[in-house]
Amino acid sequence: MSYDLIIVGSGAAGLSAAVYSGRYRMNTLVIGDEFGGYTSIAGPIENYPGYSSIDGFDLMVNMKKQATDLGIEIRDGRVEDIRRTESGCFAVRTKKGEEFFSNTLVIATGTEHRRLGIPNEKELTGKGVHYCVTCDGPLYGGKTIAVVGGGDSSIKGVNLAAEYAKKIYLIVRGTKVSAEPINYERMQRLGDKVEVLFETEVKEIVGEGKFEKAVLSKPVNGSTDLAVDGLFIEVGLLPRSELLKKAGIDLDEKGYAQADQMMRTNVPGAFVAGDIFNLFEGFRQDITAAAMGAVAATSAYEYYKIHGDLCKLHGKAPDGIG
Ligand SMILES: Cc1cc2nc3c(=O)[nH]c(=O)nc-3n(C[C@H](O)[C@H](O)[C@H](O)COP(=O)(O)OP(=O)(O)OC[C@H]3O[C@@H](n4cnc5c(N)ncnc54)[C@H](O)[C@@H]3O)c2cc1C
Repeated sequence: MSYDLIIVGSGAAGLSAAVYSGRYRMNTLVIGDEFGGYTSIAGPIENYPGYSSIDGFDLMVNMKKQATDLGIEIRDGRVEDIRRTESGCFAVRTKKGEEFFSNTLVIATGTEHRRLGIPNEKELTGKGVHYCVTCDGPLYGGKTIAVVGGGDSSIKGVNLAAEYAKKIYLIVRGTKVSAEPINYERMQRLGDKVEVLFETEVKEIVGEGKFEKAVLSKPVNGSTDLAVDGLFIEVGLLPRSELLKKAGIDLDEKGYAQADQMMRTNVPGAFVAGDIFNLFEGFRQDITAAAMGAVAATSAYEYYKIHGDLCKLHGKAPDGIG
């Protein structure tokens, strides 16, 4: 079955692209393996215009509804391969073995959490070592936890965890944090509940089948062993760029997509949007992802108007599946 446009990724970028392509009346399929992407687990979003505060998941549900109301088809699934057919059509294959065809493509696969890369991290993930305070923080009601990282996401994580945890250590490699001032001020108001350990790194994670303690690069309260109930790692993001490579899209030196300001890549008909494209020098937010999604869909529409249907051989999907 063929579409005018396939969007890979159902986060803020992918769903915003879908809203625009729906309004362009493009026959569109969105495929995403984790509905809502990071926004759906980000907790309260207070900087998306139009909402003083909205839960990230609800924001994504609203975007999805807006897209499906416009006739966009959204499927859960993991895309494993993208190739170009002889006619110039994109063939998109999912893990389940389904194959869909499209004239244009928007890749909005976002980023994934960077790991510390230290002993026992992998083995104890989900067993006391976590990467998402919103998702797993509530498991630590009345307990002591440590959050590793000095960026805005980690500060937001501390503020959220403070609603249930008894005590939180924030482990920062550098000499300061780089958070939105409003989030930093909120953390400061938590007082003694939060202890910030500057110029400190986690060197090792210790535990037999379950996290027991983190070994730090310098002592806290006389010991480099920090025995807490849970460890949350928020040390940055890496681009999810496997599909870009498969589609033949050029990457920058950090592995993010290369594109122009209209989200056009080096592959004709293929566009990118959201966190996968480092357009704003590391400034990655819902508003930037949504903006890029809107632009990518617009570029896909312009491309389709010029080149027409290159996927005729594959039979068109019915309009407005929703
Ligand atoms: C803890 C945290 C708090 C945040 N707080 C805020 C905030 O308060 N305000 C704000 O504006 N921003 C916030 N952000 C940033 C914001 O969430 C991101 O900028 C936004 O999610 C980027 O959207 P995206 O669509 O580009 O990528 P993502 O949200 O990462 O979505 C990517 C999508 O692609 C899918 N995908 C990836 N690979 C495949 C594949 N092979 N096949 C199918 N699907 C695939 C994923 O499942 C997902 O659906 C926060 C982020 C985090 C981590």
